[in-house]
Amino acid sequence: MARRRFSAFLALSASLITLSTLVNISVVEAKSSNSDFVIYHVQTKDPVVFITIDDGSVVTDGLVHLLLKKNIPVTNFVLSEPLKTHWKAFHLIRRPGTTFENHSETHPLMGNLSLAAQTKEICRASNHARGMYKKLPVFFRPPGGSHNSNTEIASKACGIKKIVMWNVEADQGKIVRAGGSPIQRGDIILLHYLHSLESSLKLVLAEIKKLGLRPASLRDYLDPAPVVVTTTTTTTTLPQ
Ligand SMILES: [Zn+2]
Repeated sequence: MARRRFSAFLALSASLITLSTLVNISVVEAKSSNSDFVIYHVQTKDPVVFITIDDGSVVTDGLVHLLLKKNIPVTNFVLSEPLKTHWKAFHLIRRPGTTFENHSETHPLMGNLSLAAQTKEICRASNHARGMYKKLPVFFRPPGGSHNSNTEIASKACGIKKIVMWNVEADQGKIVRAGGSPIQRGDIILLHYLHSLESSLKLVLAEIKKLGLRPASLRDYLDPAPVVVTTTTTTTTLPQ
């Protein structure tokens, strides 16, 4: 069967947001939170980590081929406009465990916005994602990590079940974990849809393989689907 092709890369509309405001690669600072609604890391005994990719400005052929070949579950935090503009490419990487979540409509720093403005940003982005993806996001990642107590209220009002931060960042040939230790099970790894993503992802995959870890789907651990048990006489839905 002929391999499907699409353009070498798809550039984000210049009218949306400049790249410098999209990318915030800096020293990772994982904080503890009093709320289990905001998570930086997943508590698990399984040898798994979680690949999350933000924004959506550049999607290369090489990246798509890598994701398909390796069958990697990715939790995507793509903004509304690139999700729509690049849907053809994103549609290609869909597989069980790969999901499209909420990263806001226009990438503002949530901590600077009123509750009403935050709610508008998050609910609109969820509606856009549902329009393209046919599923409602259950996770929200605040742009730049900026959030406050109103962000939790706004997220919940829009059907979000967790605010997902991160404790590992990878780009430009480097992997940086909060605290400086090697990647550990349950870590949430942040990458961005940039030209460097393919090489960064290869680096991460090589590193986690070396550590005996594998990528897993965030929804499987934080928002598992109910297990349906069927008997000859009754059908019962149990929490997982
Ligand atoms: Zn972002």
